[in-house]
Amino acid sequence: MHDFVVVGAGSAGSVVASRLSEDPSVRVLLLEAGSGRVPRESRIPAAFSKLFKTEYDWQYRTAPEGELANRSLYWPRGRMLGGSSALNAMIWTPPAREDLDGWEAAGNRDWSWADLEPTLARAERSGQDPRRPGEVGIDVAHPDAVNPVTEALLAAALASGIPSNNGFRAGRMDGAGRFRVTQARGARVSSATGYLDPVRHRPNLTIVPNATVDQILFEGRRTTGVRYRATGTGAAKASGRVVLAAGAIGSPHLLLRSGIGPAPLLAGHRIPVVADLPGVGKNLQDHLAIGLMYRCREPVTLAGADRLANVIRYLIRRDGPLTSNVAEAGAFLRLGRETDRPDVELLFAPSFFVDHGLANPPGHGFTVAAILLRPRSRGEVTLASADPLHAPTIAANYLTTGPDLELLEAGLVRAKAIAERPEVERFRGAEFLPGPAENLERFIRTRSETLYHPVGTCRMGAGPDTVVDDRLRVHEAEDLWVVDGSIMPEITAGHPHAAIVMIAERAAEFLRHGR
Ligand SMILES: Cc1cc2nc3c(=O)[nH]c(=O)nc-3n(C[C@H](O)[C@H](O)[C@H](O)COP(=O)(O)OP(=O)(O)OC[C@H]3O[C@@H](n4cnc5c(N)ncnc54)[C@H](O)[C@@H]3O)c2cc1C
Repeated sequence: MHDFVVVGAGSAGSVVASRLSEDPSVRVLLLEAGSGRVPRESRIPAAFSKLFKTEYDWQYRTAPEGELANRSLYWPRGRMLGGSSALNAMIWTPPAREDLDGWEAAGNRDWSWADLEPTLARAERSGQDPRRPGEVGIDVAHPDAVNPVTEALLAAALASGIPSNNGFRAGRMDGAGRFRVTQARGARVSSATGYLDPVRHRPNLTIVPNATVDQILFEGRRTTGVRYRATGTGAAKASGRVVLAAGAIGSPHLLLRSGIGPAPLLAGHRIPVVADLPGVGKNLQDHLAIGLMYRCREPVTLAGADRLANVIRYLIRRDGPLTSNVAEAGAFLRLGRETDRPDVELLFAPSFFVDHGLANPPGHGFTVAAILLRPRSRGEVTLASADPLHAPTIAANYLTTGPDLELLEAGLVRAKAIAERPEVERFRGAEFLPGPAENLERFIRTRSETLYHPVGTCRMGAGPDTVVDDRLRVHEAEDLWVVDGSIMPEITAGHPHAAIVMIAERAAEFLRHGR
């Protein structure tokens, strides 16, 4: 019997398990479906896309997206200790002040920027200070040099009138600058390396990798534990209160399979209803990205990053191009009418990024991507089958509502204006994508891809379409919480990992103090 069973050791689950087990009288079991071995491609920053479509990736796909030429988009999600924080692009952008204040204004007590700033500060460590024994947190480094192509793009962005915002700190997103990254001494720091590795020795913390939870177990509406499958030992049960941290796809999928969700859907799959919550799986939001690419006239991009000389340099000195997180800098812009915060981001990368980096052409190139930060369109994660081995159906419904397409197109126009400024001339070769004759709308519909930020599918709040309350307790169930990116009522205007670590730190405060 454990006090808490945490499901999923990703960005959020690693943090919750670590914080809960600080109290030696609290027994915590952390179950992770993926591997306990952290592959080399996770540690070496520039190698992260080599983990795509491997055993470390859930390799989801959306249903055909009607507004994206009926394409079914590939959605990688991390499947290992650290979850998606072990294969992400390491960008650390705390949420915009307005995002959190918006969550609180929607009725969620104690979730304002002022409430959460100290929580976030607790999560962040400088990437330079050595850790004290047992000290947890995410190392955040601010690289003092980036690729010359990135520098040129940044100079062009600033020269075009975008204000400087180096490091994107303290809730202010507007402007252009270099990103801070979740690294220490040139290596990735995931939630698992930052929060679990320093405390693995605790006798009250049990971490079980290769353990996939199939179902949450209940007596009436009280949660009693989970049923899971572990490699080697087979089916097993674990009892305790349950904290679900399986991510924006995994958490709603598990709730639905366990009888928490829209009653008609559950009935259709012959799943006994524990709680009729129509909002489970709804409110899916993601950042859609479209990349403009050019050939580069000088051989300075990341195309040669994995040459033997760079590998040796990385192994000996932990520096050089292999420490790049690829998307090294960006700009947050307000392009829509009447917006009180950035709604489009530009990303600057000294590399092609064709088909998630899996189909880059030979030679040197660079990318300026435009990202829709505050989509109006909403999607859904739903059950395809009650069989736990069957992936859920994901419908992102990209570009189905309001000005989403218009904004992304405006972002692309800005991206092009920056890439074609004189500051970039030394590097800029022929346009590779979309190519001169291509129409921008068609380009977006046929080429845009996820920026890998799905959230919102177990929405926090009090309305009929919400799943958890502002203490992250699942409505109409006892002893069951959801703590991960799925609880966001509205997607944040930055990269979500920092916000999700913050959510997990907050949840641990609630759980420890029984608030
Ligand atoms: C390729 C990529 C690049 C990204 N780049 C950035 C970036 O640069 N900056 C940024 O801020 N964000 C980035 N993101 C997004 C960010 O990493 C995620 O939003 C965040 O990690 C999600 O955290 P989470 O805790 O909600 O879920 P996850 O970190 O995905 O954790 C869920 C965990 O639960 C486990 N799990 C799922 N189902 C089960 C089950 N049934 N039983 C047991 N375990 C289960 C999973 O294996 C996983 O370990 C990126 C994401 C990807 C995929």
